[in-house]
Amino acid sequence: MKRYHMKTSFTLPRPVPEGPWRWLVPVLLVLLFLLVLLWLPWQARQMESNERQEQLIADTLWVEQTLRFELARSEEALAALGADLAVDTPPPAALQARLAQMFKNGHELQRIIWYDANGQVKASRGLELPPEGLTQSSRDAAAMARSTRLGRYSEPYGARGLVHGLIDFHLPLYHAGKYMGSLVATYNLQTLLDENVPWWFAQDNALSLLDGDDHVVAQRAAGGPGRGVYTHKRALDLPGSQIVLATDSVKGAPKLLPNLLVGSVIVLALGLVISLVALWRHIARTIAAENALRQQMAFRTAMEDSLLTGLRARDLEGRVTYVNPAFCRMVGLPPEDLLGKMPPMPYWAPEAMTEYESRFRKVLSGQVTPQFETVFQRSDGVRVPVLVFEAPLVDANGRHTGWMSSILDITDRKRAEELNRQQQEKLETSARLATMGEISSMLAHELNQPLAAIASYTAGALNVLARADGDDGAPVDAGMLKRALEQANTQARRAGQIIRSVHEFVKKREPRRETVAIPNVVDGIRALVELQARQSYVSLSVDVPPDLPPVLADRVLIEQVLLNLTRNAIEAMQAIDPERRVLRITAHTGEQGEVAVSVIDNGHGIAPEVAERLFSPFFSTKAEGMGMGLSICRTAIEFHGGTLTHAANPGGGTVFTFTLQQAQTAPVA
Ligand code: ADP
Repeated sequence: MKRYHMKTSFTLPRPVPEGPWRWLVPVLLVLLFLLVLLWLPWQARQMESNERQEQLIADTLWVEQTLRFELARSEEALAALGADLAVDTPPPAALQARLAQMFKNGHELQRIIWYDANGQVKASRGLELPPEGLTQSSRDAAAMARSTRLGRYSEPYGARGLVHGLIDFHLPLYHAGKYMGSLVATYNLQTLLDENVPWWFAQDNALSLLDGDDHVVAQRAAGGPGRGVYTHKRALDLPGSQIVLATDSVKGAPKLLPNLLVGSVIVLALGLVISLVALWRHIARTIAAENALRQQMAFRTAMEDSLLTGLRARDLEGRVTYVNPAFCRMVGLPPEDLLGKMPPMPYWAPEAMTEYESRFRKVLSGQVTPQFETVFQRSDGVRVPVLVFEAPLVDANGRHTGWMSSILDITDRKRAEELNRQQQEKLETSARLATMGEISSMLAHELNQPLAAIASYTAGALNVLARADGDDGAPVDAGMLKRALEQANTQARRAGQIIRSVHEFVKKREPRRETVAIPNVVDGIRALVELQARQSYVSLSVDVPPDLPPVLADRVLIEQVLLNLTRNAIEAMQAIDPERRVLRITAHTGEQGEVAVSVIDNGHGIAPEVAERLFSPFFSTKAEGMGMGLSICRTAIEFHGGTLTHAANPGGGTVFTFTLQQAQTAPVA
């Protein structure tokens, strides 16, 4: 289960240092990785290219060997023929047959001429010799061959459409140290290439034979022209000639892109970069969120610390999961002594244990009282009156995980309330005493009447008895005696009622709600009101329907209100004509079912400036007035959930009306 803790135990990791440094190592590593990735295919391509080059060189060597071998074979045949011719001249037919055989052996052989020691042609076969004879280079080669006594090749030369395509081989003939003439074989270099280079090689490579000036003297390019990427040159190494075999592969450099490796490397690198960027942004967002959270935390902590309201969270089992500093101060305990605790809690006051326990049982069953007053016991034993508000604690997924309470210390409020109540009580008492002071003087005066009447009735009764006991012996007038005693009894009762009602009124007591019938209350004070009214020559008219619904009220308070209102009304009428001095008490049921009681006079009425301050304590327009009456009346009526209002009487004077809730509809206190 998730725990809520005090700020001290709830920390976030230290902020990550800002700046480019934290990215340096990963970025370098990624760059290195990318470099390696890119280098690998390049390296592979390089290797492939090297391999092809090496292959070409090997093939070129092989072709060169083939060509050399072919020419060497021809040279050998020629040398054999020359050796024979130097000794003896064969019959022409035999010679021709032998020459024909040589032509058959190698198609590149185009012509054979046999010169004698004087340079005269003794026999020939093959191509016609041009009229101008051998070329200059061929003659040079012949001279060189003769002087060195070794066979020698001429530079290539052209003939019959071929620019340079022919080459001569001069073989000097010696016999017994004597120059016997020479044999000259002419080869077609193109045919040499065509006949001796295998087709598969010609398919892949453009072959050419170059002379000393790099002129192409023969070439074969079955697979198209070479690309110039893989080339190799190799001298044929013919004595006297500088012919070079050049090969040029038709293959280009290996292409980079179609390479699967390169493709995957590019995809990989792209993926890497994209995920790196995504990671980068994600981290940036996380850092931003973390900073916002940190600020929020700081704000929340500051708020919690500055709160005067105590906060306490509990999980569903009632275990305390969080308290704020204000709560700790309230109960005088450190958070360690509260967190994780289950009831009974250390701040429960022993006298309220049952109340706590019954409330805790309700919490366990999943229902809390949203607001209640209770008492906590501080660690030093002092009782702290508190007002507790409870609300369900819901987590981010909307799950109910516990309860959060905010707790107000209402010690000061309670003290003020108590002080206020005492003050009010004192005021009420003094107001009652003041009223009583006035009343008692009137009471003394009024009680005089019944007491005097009782005295005279009893004196009369005594007289009757004395006369019967006297000398004249007259009988006792029983009827007269009874009447006198009855009158005395009535007067005594009336005096008693007056005294009782005053006693009831003045007695200091706690307000008590009961079902009260308004007609009853009015009857109860009627004697007192009449007493006051009669003194001021005011006539009293009471119009209270006997079937009024009962109200829930404190009877004595309502009596006091009525007495105050009637006294004010009587006093307001002191200055007007005695025949107009009428005090009316009426009552009716209002629209909302409330009972409204009105006290109506024909007095001087209430001026607007007086109306403004009418209900203020100690406001009075009378010389001997205390100004508490209306203030107390209003407090008393509002205490009952009713209202006290006043209005002008259309026929002159004032109407004071108070309302009270009916007994069955009144809210239960
Ligand atoms: P007190 O009667 O001691 O002056 P109250 O609070 O009862 O104190 O009344 C305050 C004032 O309200 C009175 O002084 C008077 O001026 C005015 N007042 C009260 N009742 C009436 C009334 N029925 N008619 C005219 N004025 C009234």
